[in-house]
Amino acid sequence: MPPPDKNMPDEKSLSDRLAGVIAAAGPISLAQFMAEANAHYYATRDPLGAEGDFITAPEISQMFGELAGLWLADLWSRAGSPTNAHYVELGPGRGTLAEDALRAMRAARFEPPIHLVETSPVLRREQATRLPAARWHDDLDDLPETGPLLVIANEFFDALPIRQVQRNATGWHEVMVDHQNGGFVPVTSGAPLDMVIPEPLKDAPLGSVIETSPASESVARALADRIAKQGGAALIVDYGYEGIVTGTTLQAVSQHKHADIFADPGERDLTAHINFSVLERIGRAAGLAVHGPIGQGHWLESLGIGARTAALIKAAPHRQEELIAARDRLTKSEEMGDLFKAMALVAPDWPAPAAF
Ligand code: SAH
Repeated sequence: MPPPDKNMPDEKSLSDRLAGVIAAAGPISLAQFMAEANAHYYATRDPLGAEGDFITAPEISQMFGELAGLWLADLWSRAGSPTNAHYVELGPGRGTLAEDALRAMRAARFEPPIHLVETSPVLRREQATRLPAARWHDDLDDLPETGPLLVIANEFFDALPIRQVQRNATGWHEVMVDHQNGGFVPVTSGAPLDMVIPEPLKDAPLGSVIETSPASESVARALADRIAKQGGAALIVDYGYEGIVTGTTLQAVSQHKHADIFADPGERDLTAHINFSVLERIGRAAGLAVHGPIGQGHWLESLGIGARTAALIKAAPHRQEELIAARDRLTKSEEMGDLFKAMALVAPDWPAPAAF
């Protein structure tokens, strides 16, 4: 038998594999579909930037990471400058935020070891070019067990899988994904779910959808427990909502445009809005102080993005237009300023963070 050709993909496409699983065992949950699609998506590309599928705040301007770093350094310094603190970032993308944050923190005499929680080999390589001294982790479990953790998660939780349940005449049903006529389609499970529906949603109209994210909840719980035990704080920035609501927020983005959620799994970014009330409940249950969520624009303005923009313009007058455009994009309510929100989870014996 000839040796396998190294240039030929030896695996079926994700679409074919998922279609095979469904043909053999029936529809899969939406959460499994989203988990497998995003794992493949992030493992096989750098999706960020103008040439990619989407852009994030740290890729718009260095000011985002710098102000996040100063926010952490200020909190660390008012906590007594513990020498054993760690910088931790969840889903660090290209490593741009960390690079900008660590530069700003260094100026504030805070130079912690760097821990990056990242599953994508492609993005790990990209991060290593900017952060050669970092240590990488598959999940939160093998982060250091001692020393305060200063954690940043920007647009991380939105990429974690969600589950949806939908109400019809016979009750609430899990949203599943089936494969029919060559394409993936959402369907609801046959048997009604035996699950606790929050009181305000008991009489939701037929067709209503409730989203939850068990994956996000378990990461948030692990994070909150670590911070409660070791000290420190987490800054979570993402798009999201508060309260007990119905409606679907799942979306697919490809080349900066909305795309079909069910077409080409693993080839487009799937995200859902995060529920800040759930994060707040998890933080409080672990004994943490919870601040926010507040609009990203308001948060950056309180941290002095206006002064930072002016200082950068002074140093490089030819960049004036670009810097003002970046500041506006990050802060204006019709841009990212209100849609994106910042929330802080802080260890009980730590000071209150700036700007909330
Ligand atoms: N924070 C970056 C990138 C956001 S994109 C920025 O603001 O630019 C989402 C990031 O989360 C990517 O780095 C992706 O590879 C990572 N990611 C997605 N799912 C993950 C998981 N389950 N565990 C760890 N990292 C994950």
